[in-house]
Parts: sequence; C-alpha cells; structure tokens
Amino acid sequence: MIQRRETRQVMVGGHPVGGGAPVMVQSMTNTDTADIDATVQQVAELAQAGSEVVRITVNNEAAARAVPEVRARLEARGMDVPLVGDFHFNGHKLLSKYPECAAALAKLRINPGNVGKGSRRDPQFAQMIEIAIKHDKPVRIGVNWGSLDQDLLTRLMDENARASQPREARDIMFEAMIQSAIGSAERAEALGLAGDKIILSCKMSGVQDLITVYRQLADRCDYPLHLGLTEAGMGSKGIVASTAALSVLLQEGIGDTIRISLTPEPGGARTREVIVAQEILQSMGLRSFTPQVVACPGCGRTTSTFFQELAQDIESWIRAQMPRWREEYEGVEEMQVAVMGCVVNGPGESRHANIGISLPGTGERPVAPVFEDGEKTVTLKGDHIAADFQARVQRYIDNHYRSKNEQRKDKAGAREAG
Ligand code: SF4
Repeated sequence: MIQRRETRQVMVGGHPVGGGAPVMVQSMTNTDTADIDATVQQVAELAQAGSEVVRITVNNEAAARAVPEVRARLEARGMDVPLVGDFHFNGHKLLSKYPECAAALAKLRINPGNVGKGSRRDPQFAQMIEIAIKHDKPVRIGVNWGSLDQDLLTRLMDENARASQPREARDIMFEAMIQSAIGSAERAEALGLAGDKIILSCKMSGVQDLITVYRQLADRCDYPLHLGLTEAGMGSKGIVASTAALSVLLQEGIGDTIRISLTPEPGGARTREVIVAQEILQSMGLRSFTPQVVACPGCGRTTSTFFQELAQDIESWIRAQMPRWREEYEGVEEMQVAVMGCVVNGPGESRHANIGISLPGTGERPVAPVFEDGEKTVTLKGDHIAADFQARVQRYIDNHYRSKNEQRKDKAGAREAG
C-alpha cells in the first residue's frame, strides 16, 4: 500500500489535486492555440482518452483571444475538461489585456524563470498573481531546468564558491530549482494568493536528477506536486525514462498530478501520453482506468501470429469500448482479461483473470477454452474465435458490472419513495 505524502488540496476546475485525491492525469496540446478548430479537436481527443486536465500554450495575443472560444466550443460539445494556460515571457501582458482569457482558464502555469529579467521579474510575477487572485484561479509554479532563473542560480553559485566547503555545482542547481519553486510560492502567498491555490513542479530531463529534486521538494513544502520528466523523448525511450522516474517517486507517495512529455512520432497520436500516464498509475495500483489485458509473450510453442493478433485486437477493442463502458458500467475499469498462447500457463493465468482465453499452441487441439471467474465456461473453435471471445467479454460485463443507468433509476426511485 502506497502511503501518499500529505499536502494541501487545490481545486482545479472543480477537480481536487493533492490532499489525498487520486493522482490526476494531465496532457498538453501541440496545436497552435490560435487555430481554434485544431485546438478544440485535440483537447477533445485528449479528454476523450482520459486526460483530466489539458494545458494549452498561450504565447501571443491571437492565442489569448482564442482561449474563450476554445472553452465555449468544448462546452458546446459537452466537454468540461479544465484548461490550463501555459505562460512564458508575456503572460502578465496577455492576461491583463485579455481578462476573458484568464476567466476561461481553470489554472495558470507560471514559469518563474520566464517571467521577466532583472528588475522587471518581481512586478511582472506580481501582476500575474494579482490576476490569478482577481479571477480566483489556482496557479502552477512550474520550474524547468531548461529555463531556470539565472539570477538565482548565479547568486547561489557565488555563495557556494565563497563557502569553506563548496558543494558540487549540480547540487547547487538542484537547490536553485527548489528555491525558485518554493520562493515563488511564498511570494505568491505574500501577495495574497491562498496557499491552497498553488501547485509546484520542478521538471528535469534526467531520471536521477528528477528523483533527487522531487524528494527534496517534497520534504520542504506541503504544496501538491505536479510530476513529469521534461523532454522525455520519443517512443520507448521516452516511455521508459518517464516510467522509471515517476514510478520511484509515486511509490514514495510523491506526486499529485502527472504528465508524460512524449515527443510524438511522425503521424503518432498525441493521446499516447495520456495512455502512458494511465498505464503507469494503473500498473502501480494507484488508479484504474481501463480493463487490463494480461497476455503472455508467446514463444516457440505458439508459432502462428494468430495469438498476437488476438491479444492486440482484444486490447484495442477494449480501449475503443471504454468511453461507453465508463459511462454505463460501475467498476468495469478494474476487470482483468487474459489472452494466453498455450496450455502451459494459459488455463492457470486465465483462471486468475475475470475472463480469459487460452489459445491452442502448436500441436494442441485447435480449441480455445474460456474461463470466467476461475471456471471453464465455454470452448471456442473455428474462424470466429476473436469475435466470439469479444461477445463473451461483453456478456461478462453485462452480468457482472452494475449499469450506472440502473443505479440512477434506483436512486430516483428511492428519492420518490422517501
Ligand atoms: S503460455 Fe505458452 S505460448 Fe505463452 S509464453 Fe508460456 S509457453 Fe509460450
């Protein structure tokens, strides 16, 4: 059982972050925010995939003007997913000139390293915090090592150089990240922003660096923390590095929201980052999002590709059904489905799942026994094993997961009777 770190709780668009709330999944668009059609479409896809908050860049006046329209069009589609505005360099100007942009956002992301240089930094930071207070919005103070406050880093490096026992330069950089985040949060509170309106992040691109910084950050404050390995990269490298870093921290109870910063492969779906975030949380037993498919890796006992295709078909089919199932069935996301390649581990693993199928390996009789709740219920054979098994899964769901519609009817009936 993971013991979560105790934090304040921040409400983001009506959703709790920290304070024991389930770890929230976030994502970010890569469209030009001023391209309203494309941005609405991508936010909708990310939300549909399960992103509970979506961040959009607000980098210029056209983007700031577009934000209220993006919000309105999502509402028109019945989507209330909170939008977070990502501001760098000119956020104070955009938010002052376009108050309707601030009003349409559920949270403002402020990067203390990109708020302004020298004497302009503090007043511009204050201007953004005052706008957050005026519109009653939470902020994420998001430090990123690629845009670390250079004045602070230089000061700490100079102090370290004068120390009798100077520390490693890397440790000073970590310290600068943490001081930038916590110091900015304290300044925001001194300016009047409530402590339960602040989330912190200190993103780095190295796995060990991220773990080190977040452990220290978690020890030194009780703000909820947003986790993410920045610039994680593409494909399996990005997924593995993000999983390695976040799993260690989540296991220690650190992290209240997560985002996986994957570089999409050419033509790849942006929603991949949402699925990876969900899979990390579900694999760790922190949350359940979609029924899990347990599949064996296959080996020389099952030489045909039929088994791999069936495992992939079932997984894609389950993911495609999930938006409907989530609406219709209570608890379906906790179901386990097994797709196994042969008789060696097939029946055993299938018995452990809610519903499982054990396919015929090489030399076995061409039949596929199905197990439901540990008992063999039917043996499938012929050319339609995949479709027949999907029908069995749907039947299992109908019989085992209570329809949310029925629950709503029961509640309405109880209210009338009461
Ligand atoms: S269940 Fe059978 S096919 Fe799958 S890995 Fe084990 S021995 Fe190989």
